Amino acid sequence: MYLKQFEHGRTFISKLNYNTDLLEELNRICQDENIKAGAISVIGAVSSLKLGFYDQITKEYIHTTYAYDEPMEIVSCIGNISLKDGKPFCHVHLTAADRKGRCIGGHLVNGTAIFAAEVVIQELLGEDLIRKNDEQTGLSLWKE
Ligand code: ZN
Repeated sequence: MYLKQFEHGRTFISKLNYNTDLLEELNRICQDENIKAGAISVIGAVSSLKLGFYDQITKEYIHTTYAYDEPMEIVSCIGNISLKDGKPFCHVHLTAADRKGRCIGGHLVNGTAIFAAEVVIQELLGEDLIRKNDEQTGLSLWKE
């Protein structure tokens, strides 16, 4: 088990620009502001959505694109920030609903277009939170 204690740092609020890429924008904010650890939440809407699913057998992400003619609601979008390859890195999961409330969700990858997005980022201060390759899962996870 990995357990570390952090203190609260800065809190950021952002409205992201229309038709920009959600994950790229979150990573850009964290890199521009040098947020090395933290928590992310986003609500809003997307005009297209691209999510990943990690296949635990093949140890590869399957990317699935859900394109809609109408915005989908971001019901919940949460993530964390840590260091990967020496840079701030956002790990984000998203659930989105269509006009009938039907939800889909998964691991956010590049390729999701913002219709509107309100972001809260809470910076956490402490020792570096670093991702490294984990042989058991094939994922990049927090390591000592
Ligand atoms: Zn994930």
